[in-house]
Amino acid sequence: MDTQSIREKIQEVKYPGFSRDILSFGLVKEVTFEKNEVFITIELTTGDASIPEKIAHSLKEKVGTLEDVKKVNVTMEVNTPDPASKPPSSDSSSAPQNIETMQQVRYIIAIASGKGGVGKSTVSVNLACALQEVLSNRNKPNKIGIMDCDIYGPSIPLMLGANGQPEIEKNLIIPVKNYDISTISMGLLVDDDTPVVWRGPMIMKTIKQFAENVNWGDLEVLIVDLPPGTGDAQLSLTQTIPLDGAVIVTTPQKAASEVARRGARMFEKVNVPILGVVENMSYLEDASGEKSYLFGEGGGATTADSLESKLLGQIPLDVNIRKGGDLGIPIVINEKEAHASKEFLSIANQLIDKLYNK
Ligand code: ADP
Repeated sequence: MDTQSIREKIQEVKYPGFSRDILSFGLVKEVTFEKNEVFITIELTTGDASIPEKIAHSLKEKVGTLEDVKKVNVTMEVNTPDPASKPPSSDSSSAPQNIETMQQVRYIIAIASGKGGVGKSTVSVNLACALQEVLSNRNKPNKIGIMDCDIYGPSIPLMLGANGQPEIEKNLIIPVKNYDISTISMGLLVDDDTPVVWRGPMIMKTIKQFAENVNWGDLEVLIVDLPPGTGDAQLSLTQTIPLDGAVIVTTPQKAASEVARRGARMFEKVNVPILGVVENMSYLEDASGEKSYLFGEGGGATTADSLESKLLGQIPLDVNIRKGGDLGIPIVINEKEAHASKEFLSIANQLIDKLYNK
């Protein structure tokens, strides 16, 4: 028997309290099969002793049903959380927490880029508006939220025109809304003069708090705008929030797509599916319709190919995207006929197809 059929069985084992399986959480270290015995090694970080017990029990139960399997041996490598990096009121398991404030959020997608300035926040905001429209056209609930985890340059509130101090109710932060899109961002919680000198553990804490201490309410899709880069912050996020997938934003030049690929590999490591690639600043179109490719061509397609994913769309350079960002009126809302807006709607349609048909 090959280990593939064993892995398929392992996929039926959910992380206790979650609807996601332990394989997709990246907890399965090794699977071997020898003389009718299966050997499975699981590695996880948790302070709750009942979790490894429950996982081992259900592994034995599920994998034991396979023909040819006489015995299932489970080795649990349990790391206890490092108290120095442990945020308050959490059990810091290496898998996403069962977060109460996010229970009514149907889908959570991350928007990521390898480096800053490629238009990740612009894509997050316009995609949120486009998703809202597509869902409403399909007669589905269309409440959207954006969690702005880009704490180095939290630009979502500005781009969404959402301002004001968030209110607190029953110890939970209430997101600020504009265009019926709920958002929470460091930009709403600190004043403009506060220097943001964040280090790894601080980022992790902030992200956890955005997840646990914000009353997200009933949302169809929550967009998580990640900090740029490929380091610990993204990794900690994937371990904190149960992501349904990630969208990678890149620009057309070769260098950008290489960085984006590195970022994307991180999601692969933790088994968060890449839903597709968005190429931003793809071309500039003049009044006659002629396109100039200022930053070169092909970066988005190359990135998508190398991730075995799909290029979801190409957003042109458009001065109205920038202006809309500065004014807090996203182009998708302000200029429906613009090429960029149509492209955002097409991307939103593809994402909704992927999420609902998965
Ligand atoms: P990131 O979140 O990746 O740092 P931003 O979304 O903040 O990037 O974008 C950086 C700047 O570029 C912003 O001023 C934004 O308005 C502008 N911008 C982004 N995409 C486009 C585009 N397609 N056309 C014109 N300006 C854009």
